[in-house]
Order: sequence, then structure tokens, then C-alpha cells
Amino acid sequence: MSRFWSKITHALTPYVPGEQPQHAQLVKLNTNECPYPPSPRVMDTIQAISDDSLRRYPDPSSVALREAIAATRGLGIENVFVGNGSDEVLAHAFQGLLAHEEPLLFPDITYSFYPVWCQLYGLTSRTIPLAEDFSLALDEYRAGRGAVIIPNPNAPTGMALPLTSIRQLLDQNPDAVVVIDEAYVDYGAESAAALVPEYENLLVVQTLSKSRALAGLRVGFALGNPALIQGLTRVKDSFNSYPLDAVAQAAARAAVEDVDYFDECRQQVMATRTSLSEVLLELGFDVLPSQANFVFARHPEHDAAKLFAGLRQQGVIVRHWNKPRIDQYLRISIGTEAQTQRLLEVLTQLL
Ligand code: PMP
Repeated sequence: MSRFWSKITHALTPYVPGEQPQHAQLVKLNTNECPYPPSPRVMDTIQAISDDSLRRYPDPSSVALREAIAATRGLGIENVFVGNGSDEVLAHAFQGLLAHEEPLLFPDITYSFYPVWCQLYGLTSRTIPLAEDFSLALDEYRAGRGAVIIPNPNAPTGMALPLTSIRQLLDQNPDAVVVIDEAYVDYGAESAAALVPEYENLLVVQTLSKSRALAGLRVGFALGNPALIQGLTRVKDSFNSYPLDAVAQAAARAAVEDVDYFDECRQQVMATRTSLSEVLLELGFDVLPSQANFVFARHPEHDAAKLFAGLRQQGVIVRHWNKPRIDQYLRISIGTEAQTQRLLEVLTQLL
């Protein structure tokens, strides 16, 4: 069949997502979902959706949702773009904002979707190795008239840069678009959203998939200068002019407005992260300093692939990559207290 494909599609190496087994008994700690349900206001909103709002096309510009997001950041609606998960927002950014005469820079250990989008949209890129301790070699990110994208915190290490470092990155790249992918920013890291009014070349991308427990709803957003937001909107309108369905727009708005519930969930996740890290250290693991809703850890005496397989056999799913430098690490999402207990029970048996 391959002769029917174009050469480009045939050569693509697609992104491989973490597995999504539909088995309720599993302790699923492999894709950094929130272990708690979404805000009760989200569930109420979905139940109250009118038949009219399903019969009609949704608002193509997601105005009410964008206003709600803007209000939480002290920004205007013209600073906000929304899409089906931050993956779609990022894909639009790769396609419309990050292709320049000089390469796009990103770390060599990072979100593995970035090289896929480069391939898909024909972008030239240059990866910059993380330092020995997995920190970002900030001085090396000088893109000239190109572009930069980094996740903060980085994935899958969970390590975050402070706002002063993001400022340095922006100051040393005045002519490049700088994208900060903040999928995991709500667990202790500082958001670059505060810098949006100051830097016209900054795009901050966030998601409702993690800290708002809405991975299944598919809502993400970008914050930036109106010129960048207009660029994304042009890509959207050339691709799918109704990015978010009516249910997603209404439910996402309810989630964004329930700030108390959001705070409660993320505080709980951070508390569990601290206690999990302490026990992992006691068990002899090296644990990277995480500011995300997962930890990245290795045991100097136990092979990570074997630990991964042993956990899996007992119904505990974490993430492991057969990639240079990180093949001895496990990435473990922060679960509920009970899931964390189960994880530690099985790990203790395996060691
Ligand atoms: N950025 C990073 C760094 C991620 O790990 C993820 C989750 N896989 C995303 C973006 C995309 O998340 P979503 O599309 O669910 O918003």
C-alpha cells in the first residue's frame, strides 16, 4: 500500500503517546493525569448543557472561555488563544510561528512531540544537550532570528527554571519567538505568563489536562502578544475554524473559574509528591528535584526496564523510555495517596 502515500507521510516517525488501558483496576501512573476528579462545577455545567447549544455550531472564537482565562491572568482576550489540548496549540505554533531562516532550538531531552512537529511541518531544528545534572544549558539558547521552545518544568525530568532564567532566555533572544510550554507549571514552578505584557516575542502555552483534571476534554491555551495570537488564529482558521466544541468551551470555563478547587487539587498533588520522593530516597532511588506532577527517578542497583515490567505485572503502570541517558529512569505520575501506597508496596517487593 505504501506506493499510495506521499514520500513525506511515509517518512514520518509519529509521536507515541503513553498507553491508555481502559482497565479500572490498574494503578495508572504513566501519563500525568490528575488523580482527582474535575471540579464539581464542571460536571454541573456539562449536565446543564442545553439542546440548543448542541444543535448550533459553537462560538468559533471561544470568546467566553478566552475572557475567563484572560481574567485569571490580568490579560485581555486578545492575549489568549485556545485549542484542543495544548498539543493542538503547540502544533499550530510549530506550523505558523516557529519556522524561520534560522533553526528552532530545544533541549535534547524534552517533550518528544517537538521533533515530530518539526518533521511534519518541515522545520529545521537544533537540539541542545541538557547539562550533566539534567539542567538546561541556558547560555546556549541563542537563536538569532530563529525560535526557541522549552517546557518549564521540563518533561520528563520535572525540573523547572525560575522566572529570572526565563527572563534571561528572552533577553538573549530579542529577535526570536520564544515558546514556554507550561503543561506542568501549576505544581510549584513560576509561570512566564507574568512576562507577557513585557515581551512581544513570548508565547506561554498551558493546558487544562493536568491541574484541572480535564485531559479527556482536550482544552489548552496560549498567552501572548496579540500579534502572536493572531498568527495562531490564522493557522486555526485555515485548519479548523471551530477548534473547541460547545461542551468543551462551557466546561473549561467552569474549571478555570473554580480557583479554590484547582488550588486544593494541586496542593494535594504537591504534598503527595513530597512524601513519595522521601520514601523513594529511603528506598535508595535518586530522585530529580521535580516541580511537576510526576517524579523522575532511578535506582543505582536495579535496572529500570525490569522495575517497569515488574510494576506492570502487578498492575502499576509508570513510564519508561529506551533512550540514551534516561533509560535507567522511571517517570512516575503523582497519584492518590492509595495509588502511591500501592506503587511503593510493589516497588519494595521488587527491590
Ligand atoms: N506539553 C508537554 C510537555 C506535555 O507533556 C504534554 C502532555 N503529553 C502536552 C504538552 C500536551 O498536553 P495536552 O495536549 O493534553 O494539553
